[in-house]
Amino acid sequence: MTKTVALVVAAGRGTRMSGDVPKQYRMLAGQSVLRRTLSSFASHPKIDRVIPVIHRDDTPDFAAASAGLAVEPPVYGGDTRQASVLNGLEHLARSPAPARVLIHDGARPFVTVKMIDDILEALSDADAVIPVLDVHDTLKRSDAGIVSDTVDRSGLVRAQTPQGFGFPGILEAHRELAGKALTDDAAVAEAHGMTVTTVPGLEENIKITRDEDLERASFWLQASNETRVGSGFDVHRFEPGASVRLGGIDIPHEQGLAGHSDADVALHALTDALLGALGDGDIGSHFPPSDPQWRGADSALFLQHAHNMLVGCGGTLTHADLTIICEAPKIGPHRDAIRTRIADILGISSERISVKATTTEGLGFTGRSEGIAAQATVTISVSTR
Ligand code: MG
Repeated sequence: MTKTVALVVAAGRGTRMSGDVPKQYRMLAGQSVLRRTLSSFASHPKIDRVIPVIHRDDTPDFAAASAGLAVEPPVYGGDTRQASVLNGLEHLARSPAPARVLIHDGARPFVTVKMIDDILEALSDADAVIPVLDVHDTLKRSDAGIVSDTVDRSGLVRAQTPQGFGFPGILEAHRELAGKALTDDAAVAEAHGMTVTTVPGLEENIKITRDEDLERASFWLQASNETRVGSGFDVHRFEPGASVRLGGIDIPHEQGLAGHSDADVALHALTDALLGALGDGDIGSHFPPSDPQWRGADSALFLQHAHNMLVGCGGTLTHADLTIICEAPKIGPHRDAIRTRIADILGISSERISVKATTTEGLGFTGRSEGIAAQATVTISVSTR
Protein backbone atom coordinates (compact mmCIF):
# COMPACT_ATOMS: atom_id res chain seq x y z
CA MET A 1 0.00 0.00 0.00
CA THR A 2 1.21 3.44 -0.86
CA LYS A 3 1.89 5.22 2.38
CA THR A 4 2.46 8.86 1.59
CA VAL A 5 1.41 10.99 -1.35
CA ALA A 6 2.31 14.62 -2.03
CA LEU A 7 -0.47 16.54 -3.78
CA VAL A 8 1.11 19.65 -5.31
CA VAL A 9 -1.57 22.19 -6.16
CA ALA A 10 -0.54 24.36 -9.10
CA ALA A 11 -3.78 25.12 -10.92
CA GLY A 12 -3.97 28.83 -10.04
CA ARG A 13 -3.81 31.56 -12.67
CA GLY A 14 -1.54 33.91 -10.70
CA THR A 15 -3.68 36.99 -11.24
CA ARG A 16 -1.65 39.06 -8.79
CA MET A 17 1.42 38.90 -10.99
CA SER A 18 2.42 40.68 -14.16
CA GLY A 19 3.05 38.82 -17.40
CA ASP A 20 1.22 36.02 -19.20
CA VAL A 21 2.86 33.08 -17.46
CA PRO A 22 1.23 31.88 -14.21
CA LYS A 23 3.53 32.43 -11.22
CA GLN A 24 4.28 28.72 -10.69
CA TYR A 25 5.78 28.52 -14.20
CA ARG A 26 7.90 31.68 -13.89
CA MET A 27 11.65 31.05 -14.02
CA LEU A 28 13.64 31.32 -10.82
CA ALA A 29 17.44 31.11 -11.26
CA GLY A 30 17.19 28.87 -14.32
CA GLN A 31 14.37 26.57 -13.17
CA SER A 32 10.65 27.15 -13.00
CA VAL A 33 9.14 27.68 -9.55
CA LEU A 34 7.01 24.54 -9.95
CA ARG A 35 9.98 22.40 -11.00
CA ARG A 36 11.79 23.40 -7.82
CA THR A 37 8.71 22.54 -5.76
CA LEU A 38 8.14 19.18 -7.48
CA SER A 39 11.84 18.25 -7.12
CA SER A 40 11.67 18.69 -3.34
CA PHE A 41 8.96 16.04 -3.05
CA ALA A 42 10.11 13.77 -5.89
CA SER A 43 13.55 13.41 -4.28
CA HIS A 44 12.28 12.92 -0.71
CA PRO A 45 12.76 9.31 0.41
CA LYS A 46 9.53 9.20 2.45
CA ILE A 47 7.25 10.43 -0.33
CA ASP A 48 5.95 7.50 -2.40
CA ARG A 49 3.99 9.37 -5.09
CA VAL A 50 3.87 12.97 -6.28
CA ILE A 51 0.59 14.06 -7.91
CA PRO A 52 0.52 17.53 -9.48
CA VAL A 53 -2.82 19.32 -9.89
CA ILE A 54 -2.62 21.79 -12.79
CA HIS A 55 -4.77 24.00 -15.00
CA ARG A 56 -5.66 22.38 -18.32
CA ASP A 57 -4.27 25.37 -20.24
CA ASP A 58 -0.84 24.89 -18.63
CA THR A 59 -0.25 21.39 -20.03
CA PRO A 60 2.75 22.41 -22.22
CA ASP A 61 4.33 24.47 -19.41
CA PHE A 62 3.80 21.57 -17.03
CA ALA A 63 5.52 19.14 -19.42
CA ALA A 64 8.62 21.34 -19.37
CA ALA A 65 8.46 21.87 -15.60
CA SER A 66 8.24 18.16 -14.83
CA ALA A 67 10.51 16.66 -17.53
CA GLY A 68 12.71 13.96 -16.06
CA LEU A 69 11.22 14.21 -12.55
CA ALA A 70 9.61 11.27 -10.75
CA VAL A 71 6.11 12.77 -10.71
CA GLU A 72 2.86 11.29 -12.03
CA PRO A 73 0.74 12.62 -14.89
CA PRO A 74 -1.18 15.68 -13.69
CA VAL A 75 -4.75 15.87 -12.47
CA TYR A 76 -6.70 18.88 -13.76
CA GLY A 77 -7.85 21.39 -11.16
CA GLY A 78 -11.18 23.12 -10.62
CA ASP A 79 -12.31 26.76 -10.42
CA THR A 80 -10.94 27.32 -6.92
CA ARG A 81 -7.99 25.98 -4.97
CA GLN A 82 -10.40 24.00 -2.81
CA ALA A 83 -12.01 22.42 -5.89
CA SER A 84 -8.55 21.58 -7.28
CA VAL A 85 -7.55 19.82 -4.07
CA LEU A 86 -10.79 17.84 -4.10
CA ASN A 87 -10.08 16.74 -7.70
CA GLY A 88 -6.67 15.54 -6.58
CA LEU A 89 -8.08 13.69 -3.57
CA GLU A 90 -10.81 12.05 -5.69
CA HIS A 91 -8.10 10.94 -8.13
CA LEU A 92 -6.25 9.32 -5.23
CA ALA A 93 -9.45 7.69 -3.98
CA ARG A 94 -9.80 5.89 -7.34
CA SER A 95 -6.35 4.31 -7.02
CA PRO A 96 -5.29 2.22 -4.02
CA ALA A 97 -5.76 4.92 -1.40
CA PRO A 98 -2.71 6.19 0.49
CA ALA A 99 -2.52 6.33 4.28
CA ARG A 100 -1.63 10.01 4.35
CA VAL A 101 -1.36 12.96 2.05
CA LEU A 102 0.70 16.16 2.13
CA ILE A 103 -1.06 19.01 0.32
CA HIS A 104 1.32 21.72 -0.85
CA ASP A 105 1.17 24.96 -2.83
CA GLY A 106 3.06 24.61 -6.12
CA ALA A 107 4.24 28.21 -5.69
CA ARG A 108 6.20 27.43 -2.49
CA PRO A 109 9.52 26.25 -3.93
CA PHE A 110 11.59 26.43 -0.72
CA VAL A 111 10.05 23.57 1.24
CA THR A 112 12.88 21.62 2.88
CA VAL A 113 13.60 17.96 3.54
CA LYS A 114 13.48 18.67 7.29
CA MET A 115 10.09 20.37 7.05
CA ILE A 116 8.61 17.36 5.26
CA ASP A 117 10.22 15.05 7.83
CA ASP A 118 8.83 17.09 10.75
CA ILE A 119 5.29 17.05 9.36
CA LEU A 120 5.37 13.31 8.62
CA GLU A 121 6.71 12.58 12.08
CA ALA A 122 4.01 14.67 13.78
CA LEU A 123 1.41 13.02 11.54
CA SER A 124 2.21 9.60 12.99
CA ASP A 125 -0.02 10.46 15.96
CA ALA A 126 -2.24 13.26 14.62
CA ASP A 127 -5.02 13.60 12.04
CA ALA A 128 -3.82 16.89 10.65
CA VAL A 129 -0.49 18.76 10.91
CA ILE A 130 0.37 22.20 9.57
CA PRO A 131 3.55 24.30 9.70
CA VAL A 132 3.01 27.71 11.31
CA LEU A 133 4.99 30.87 12.04
CA ASP A 134 4.59 33.40 14.82
CA VAL A 135 3.26 36.87 14.08
CA HIS A 136 5.86 39.47 15.06
CA ASP A 137 4.32 42.60 13.58
CA THR A 138 1.56 44.44 15.40
CA LEU A 139 -1.73 43.81 13.67
CA LYS A 140 -4.13 46.65 12.85
CA ARG A 141 -7.53 46.79 11.34
CA SER A 142 -7.68 49.57 8.77
CA ASP A 143 -10.42 51.02 6.64
CA ALA A 144 -9.68 53.39 3.75
CA GLY A 145 -6.28 54.21 5.22
CA ILE A 146 -7.52 54.92 8.74
CA VAL A 147 -6.71 52.55 11.58
CA SER A 148 -9.81 51.55 13.45
CA ASP A 149 -8.41 48.98 15.82
CA THR A 150 -5.28 47.20 17.08
CA VAL A 151 -5.79 43.46 16.98
CA ASP A 152 -4.53 41.28 19.82
CA ARG A 153 -1.97 39.01 18.17
CA SER A 154 -1.53 36.62 21.08
CA GLY A 155 -2.25 33.11 19.92
CA LEU A 156 -2.19 34.11 16.26
CA VAL A 157 0.03 32.18 13.84
CA ARG A 158 0.54 32.19 10.08
CA ALA A 159 -0.22 28.92 8.30
CA GLN A 160 2.03 27.52 5.56
CA THR A 161 2.07 24.35 3.49
CA PRO A 162 2.74 21.42 3.19
CA GLN A 163 -0.22 20.48 5.34
CA GLY A 164 -0.38 16.79 6.25
CA PHE A 165 -3.49 14.72 6.79
CA GLY A 166 -4.70 11.17 7.20
CA PHE A 167 -6.12 10.49 3.74
CA PRO A 168 -9.61 9.17 4.61
CA GLY A 169 -10.26 12.09 6.98
CA ILE A 170 -9.28 14.91 4.62
CA LEU A 171 -11.11 13.28 1.68
CA GLU A 172 -14.30 13.15 3.74
CA ALA A 173 -13.80 16.74 4.93
CA HIS A 174 -13.27 18.09 1.41
CA ARG A 175 -16.31 16.19 0.10
CA GLU A 176 -18.50 17.58 2.87
CA LEU A 177 -17.27 21.16 2.57
CA ALA A 178 -16.97 21.47 -1.21
CA GLY A 179 -17.83 25.00 -2.38
CA LYS A 180 -17.47 26.61 1.08
CA ALA A 181 -14.65 28.98 -0.01
CA LEU A 182 -12.11 27.99 2.64
CA THR A 183 -8.58 29.23 1.94
CA ASP A 184 -6.49 26.31 3.15
CA ASP A 185 -6.93 22.61 3.74
CA ALA A 186 -6.53 22.97 7.49
CA ALA A 187 -9.62 25.21 7.45
CA VAL A 188 -11.48 22.40 5.71
CA ALA A 189 -10.24 19.94 8.33
CA GLU A 190 -11.21 22.27 11.20
CA ALA A 191 -14.69 22.81 9.79
CA HIS A 192 -15.04 19.04 9.60
CA GLY A 193 -14.15 18.75 13.29
CA MET A 194 -10.62 17.40 12.90
CA THR A 195 -7.94 18.42 15.39
CA VAL A 196 -5.17 20.31 13.61
CA THR A 197 -1.70 20.11 15.18
CA THR A 198 1.12 22.55 14.45
CA VAL A 199 4.84 22.22 13.82
CA PRO A 200 7.28 25.12 13.30
CA GLY A 201 7.21 26.56 9.79
CA LEU A 202 10.06 28.25 7.98
CA GLU A 203 10.26 31.96 7.10
CA GLU A 204 11.89 31.23 3.75
CA ASN A 205 9.09 28.86 2.74
CA ILE A 206 7.34 31.75 1.05
CA LYS A 207 4.54 31.53 -1.47
CA ILE A 208 5.50 33.25 -4.72
CA THR A 209 2.49 35.49 -5.17
CA ARG A 210 3.71 38.91 -6.29
CA ASP A 211 6.54 40.04 -8.60
CA GLU A 212 8.59 41.16 -5.59
CA ASP A 213 8.38 37.63 -4.12
CA LEU A 214 10.07 36.32 -7.25
CA GLU A 215 12.76 38.99 -6.99
CA ARG A 216 13.36 38.19 -3.32
CA ALA A 217 13.53 34.45 -4.04
CA SER A 218 15.95 35.01 -6.90
CA PHE A 219 18.15 37.15 -4.66
CA TRP A 220 18.21 34.46 -1.94
CA LEU A 221 19.21 31.79 -4.43
CA GLN A 222 21.99 33.88 -5.92
CA ALA A 223 23.25 34.96 -2.52
CA SER A 224 23.41 31.35 -1.37
CA ASN A 225 25.30 30.05 -4.42
CA GLU A 226 29.04 30.03 -4.70
CA THR A 227 31.33 29.30 -7.60
CA ARG A 228 34.17 26.83 -7.23
CA VAL A 229 36.91 25.76 -9.60
CA GLY A 230 38.69 22.41 -9.75
CA SER A 231 41.64 21.20 -11.77
CA GLY A 232 42.69 17.71 -12.83
CA PHE A 233 45.75 16.23 -14.53
CA ASP A 234 46.47 12.70 -15.72
CA VAL A 235 48.97 10.75 -17.82
CA HIS A 236 48.79 7.28 -19.35
CA ARG A 237 51.62 5.66 -21.24
CA PHE A 238 51.33 3.91 -24.58
CA GLU A 239 51.32 0.13 -24.90
CA PRO A 240 50.80 -2.08 -27.93
CA GLY A 241 47.28 -1.72 -29.33
CA ALA A 242 45.19 -0.46 -32.21
CA SER A 243 43.21 2.41 -30.68
CA VAL A 244 43.04 4.77 -27.73
CA ARG A 245 39.94 5.69 -25.67
CA LEU A 246 39.95 9.48 -25.33
CA GLY A 247 37.10 11.58 -24.02
CA GLY A 248 34.76 8.61 -24.15
CA ILE A 249 35.35 7.68 -27.78
CA ASP A 250 37.69 5.18 -29.46
CA ILE A 251 40.23 6.73 -31.81
CA PRO A 252 42.22 4.45 -34.12
CA HIS A 253 45.97 4.68 -33.43
CA GLU A 254 49.02 2.51 -33.85
CA GLN A 255 49.24 2.08 -30.07
CA GLY A 256 46.87 1.76 -27.13
CA LEU A 257 46.99 3.30 -23.67
CA ALA A 258 47.98 1.31 -20.58
CA GLY A 259 45.79 1.50 -17.49
CA HIS A 260 43.71 -0.43 -15.03
CA SER A 261 40.43 0.89 -16.46
CA ASP A 262 39.94 1.83 -20.12
CA ALA A 263 42.82 4.32 -19.58
CA ASP A 264 40.78 7.28 -20.78
CA VAL A 265 43.23 9.94 -19.68
CA ALA A 266 40.88 12.78 -20.69
CA LEU A 267 37.91 11.58 -18.65
CA HIS A 268 40.25 10.87 -15.71
CA ALA A 269 41.49 14.47 -15.74
CA LEU A 270 37.88 15.73 -15.91
CA THR A 271 36.77 13.44 -13.09
CA ASP A 272 39.64 14.62 -10.91
CA ALA A 273 38.79 18.25 -11.68
CA LEU A 274 35.19 17.68 -10.53
CA LEU A 275 36.28 15.87 -7.38
CA GLY A 276 38.74 18.69 -6.76
CA ALA A 277 36.00 21.32 -7.03
CA LEU A 278 33.91 19.27 -4.60
CA GLY A 279 36.88 18.95 -2.24
CA ASP A 280 36.29 15.21 -2.11
CA GLY A 281 39.47 13.24 -2.77
CA ASP A 282 40.55 12.04 -6.18
CA ILE A 283 39.74 9.35 -8.71
CA GLY A 284 42.10 6.91 -6.99
CA SER A 285 40.31 7.25 -3.64
CA HIS A 286 36.86 6.72 -5.19
CA PHE A 287 37.89 3.98 -7.63
CA PRO A 288 41.02 2.30 -6.21
CA PRO A 289 43.16 0.65 -8.91
CA SER A 290 43.53 -2.23 -6.44
CA ASP A 291 39.78 -2.97 -6.75
CA PRO A 292 39.24 -5.62 -9.46
CA GLN A 293 35.74 -4.29 -10.27
CA TRP A 294 37.33 -1.34 -12.09
CA ARG A 295 39.50 -3.51 -14.36
CA GLY A 296 38.74 -2.40 -17.91
CA ALA A 297 35.95 -0.14 -16.59
CA ASP A 298 34.36 2.48 -18.85
CA SER A 299 35.70 5.74 -17.42
CA ALA A 300 32.35 7.38 -18.22
CA LEU A 301 31.19 5.71 -14.98
CA PHE A 302 33.84 7.59 -13.00
CA LEU A 303 32.86 10.91 -14.52
CA GLN A 304 29.16 10.21 -13.96
CA HIS A 305 29.84 9.28 -10.34
CA ALA A 306 31.62 12.57 -9.68
CA HIS A 307 28.90 14.50 -11.50
CA ASN A 308 26.17 12.70 -9.52
CA MET A 309 27.94 13.74 -6.31
CA LEU A 310 27.75 17.34 -7.52
CA VAL A 311 24.07 17.12 -8.50
CA GLY A 312 23.30 15.31 -5.25
CA CYS A 313 24.41 18.31 -3.24
CA GLY A 314 22.32 20.67 -5.38
CA GLY A 315 25.21 21.85 -7.57
CA THR A 316 25.58 22.32 -11.28
CA LEU A 317 28.54 22.07 -13.64
CA THR A 318 28.90 25.47 -15.22
CA HIS A 319 31.76 24.70 -17.57
CA ALA A 320 34.53 22.19 -18.25
CA ASP A 321 37.70 22.95 -20.21
CA LEU A 322 39.80 19.98 -21.28
CA THR A 323 43.23 20.00 -22.91
CA ILE A 324 44.66 16.81 -24.42
CA ILE A 325 48.45 16.80 -24.82
CA CYS A 326 50.04 14.45 -27.36
CA GLU A 327 51.90 14.32 -30.70
CA ALA A 328 49.48 11.72 -32.10
CA PRO A 329 46.77 10.78 -32.75
CA LYS A 330 45.48 14.06 -34.16
CA ILE A 331 42.65 15.24 -31.92
CA GLY A 332 41.19 17.96 -34.17
CA PRO A 333 39.09 15.63 -36.36
CA HIS A 334 37.56 14.06 -33.21
CA ARG A 335 37.08 17.21 -31.16
CA ASP A 336 33.35 17.60 -31.82
CA ALA A 337 32.67 13.92 -31.20
CA ILE A 338 34.47 14.16 -27.86
CA ARG A 339 32.54 17.27 -26.85
CA THR A 340 29.25 15.61 -27.73
CA ARG A 341 30.17 12.41 -25.91
CA ILE A 342 31.19 14.23 -22.71
CA ALA A 343 28.01 16.34 -22.84
CA ASP A 344 26.00 13.10 -23.20
CA ILE A 345 27.75 11.47 -20.26
CA LEU A 346 26.98 14.49 -18.10
CA GLY A 347 23.53 15.25 -19.49
CA ILE A 348 24.43 18.90 -20.12
CA SER A 349 24.73 21.11 -23.17
CA SER A 350 27.89 20.66 -25.26
CA GLU A 351 28.26 24.46 -25.20
CA ARG A 352 29.43 24.01 -21.62
CA ILE A 353 32.24 21.66 -22.66
CA SER A 354 35.47 22.82 -24.26
CA VAL A 355 37.95 20.38 -25.81
CA LYS A 356 41.38 21.56 -26.88
CA ALA A 357 44.54 19.77 -27.94
CA THR A 358 48.20 20.60 -28.15
CA THR A 359 51.53 18.95 -28.84
CA THR A 360 54.64 19.74 -26.81
CA GLU A 361 56.74 20.49 -29.90
CA GLY A 362 58.55 17.15 -29.66
CA LEU A 363 59.73 17.92 -26.12
CA GLY A 364 59.36 15.75 -23.06
CA PHE A 365 57.56 12.41 -22.67
CA THR A 366 54.58 13.45 -24.77
CA GLY A 367 56.98 14.83 -27.39
CA ARG A 368 58.72 11.47 -27.49
CA SER A 369 55.28 9.82 -27.93
CA GLU A 370 55.63 7.80 -24.75
CA GLY A 371 52.07 8.56 -23.68
CA ILE A 372 49.22 11.03 -23.56
CA ALA A 373 48.56 13.68 -20.91
CA ALA A 374 45.37 15.59 -20.21
CA GLN A 375 44.46 18.48 -18.00
CA ALA A 376 41.04 19.82 -17.12
CA THR A 377 39.51 22.74 -15.33
CA VAL A 378 35.88 22.76 -14.21
CA THR A 379 33.71 25.51 -12.80
CA ILE A 380 30.82 24.48 -10.58
CA SER A 381 28.06 26.33 -8.80
CA VAL A 382 27.00 24.96 -5.43
CA SER A 383 24.41 26.13 -2.96
CA THR A 384 25.50 27.03 0.54
CA ARG A 385 21.89 26.90 1.76
MG1 MG B 1 44.29 7.82 -15.07
